[in-house]
Amino acid sequence: MSNKITFILEPDSGKLTAEVSGISANLLIDLRDDLGTSQSLNCGKPMEGPSWEPSCLYDDRQYIWLHRIYHNSVVDGPGRRSVIQVAGCSIRCPGCYVPETHSRHNGKKVSISSILEEIVSKRYENDGVTILGGEPFDQSDSVAELVLRLKKLGFHIVVYTGNTIEKLTAKDDPSITNTLSHIDLLIDGPFESSLVAETGEYRGSSNQRVLQRK
Ligand code: SF4
Repeated sequence: MSNKITFILEPDSGKLTAEVSGISANLLIDLRDDLGTSQSLNCGKPMEGPSWEPSCLYDDRQYIWLHRIYHNSVVDGPGRRSVIQVAGCSIRCPGCYVPETHSRHNGKKVSISSILEEIVSKRYENDGVTILGGEPFDQSDSVAELVLRLKKLGFHIVVYTGNTIEKLTAKDDPSITNTLSHIDLLIDGPFESSLVAETGEYRGSSNQRVLQRK
């Protein structure tokens, strides 16, 4: 696949269209940030190859089902953290503490750009960002995009999942691989209500593991 960006400017309307193919994810993000408000126009899908790479400027992975954002948490990872709590969980562990996050429709679909704006506005009060749920990997494409953009901004990133890392890697999903290779800590495993004693830091039940990724 050739690597190119073609800009088409319509002199009458002033509209600028960017056609992209084969460029890196980081370059695409820079381009998107530089262009500001825009919209997707019949994005072409890659012809071949399983690699994770955004194929168009504005697509569904630019949005995420969000339950809420909160700041200054000292229980969701090391230090003081901003927390992005996504909406929707297919795992449904018995005894889950946050059943209100199970349905996507208890949240709303919001742009990743708007989430980043809020996170960046609080960055000097917080030591990092935690993404939890709900189940983040139920939205693997959107979470990969979010993680990539947070990492590019230099954030320390923790992700919670109700899956084990073995289960996630077995899916062989490029977005999941991308997320796992850009985060600092993964806290994995389903919540087990019979294992809540002596859980140690950050975990809901003792079967869950705190896995250093960087
Ligand atoms: S994975 Fe998390 S949000 Fe989903 S049911 Fe289990 S504990 Fe609750």
